[in-house]
Amino acid sequence: MNPPQPETAEIKRMLAAIETDVRMTARETGRDALGQRVMQAMARVPRHRFVPPDYRSLAYANRPLPIGHGQTISQPYIVALMTDLLNPQPDHRVLEIGTGCGYQTAVLAELVAQVYSVEIVSELARVAGARLTELGYDNIHLRSGDGFGGWTEQAPFDGILVTAAPDAVPRPLLEQLAPHGRLVVPIGPRFGTQMLTVATHGPGGTVETATTIPVVFVPMIGGTGLDPR
Ligand code: SAH
Repeated sequence: MNPPQPETAEIKRMLAAIETDVRMTARETGRDALGQRVMQAMARVPRHRFVPPDYRSLAYANRPLPIGHGQTISQPYIVALMTDLLNPQPDHRVLEIGTGCGYQTAVLAELVAQVYSVEIVSELARVAGARLTELGYDNIHLRSGDGFGGWTEQAPFDGILVTAAPDAVPRPLLEQLAPHGRLVVPIGPRFGTQMLTVATHGPGGTVETATTIPVVFVPMIGGTGLDPR
């Protein structure tokens, strides 16, 4: 028998912390537990491989951490919730905007057939790509560039997950969403409260949006008209 992985206890604590947060926000999110497949994916992805070495001891804490370039790796609870809101299915092709360190990308890759991810900071995209390849993921496709316009050549997508905050639902992303698909995106001003929003196609070309909880993400830069830093 293999000895238990050193991080097993940490992962269990992380899953318990996620479950607590999910229960505390059940009224806003409409769910008092997340899907079993999503929780299993959270348990499988080695989060310590995505954080800078100095933060190794906090890798499985239920909090965001800095990853350099002024960017962060999202809080595990938020990654799990956003993934669950996307309703990922094994045959899905999904698009992520804001690869960052690639942690959310890996969680998605555990759950769906193909993951496409766009990152505007080329150095982050390069490092994430190398890391994800090293971890053995072969269903992830990365591109460096402005994700505001999505990834036209690969559209439509069964789900789109955005991990940087635009100030309104980006039109091009909605257009690249399959009829049944969900767009999960934090929406709000650069220094204000953003609302984690699920946008779907309504009848007759309308857009339906449902807001869940307030969140704090780095602003989406590029095509939104906001100044790149
Ligand atoms: N998904 C990450 C969190 C990423 S932080 C995780 O798993 O923890 C948000 C990322 O979005 C940053 O890396 C930032 O550079 C990127 N970003 C911001 N605006 C963008 C844009 N217009 N297109 C693509 N990426 C963008």
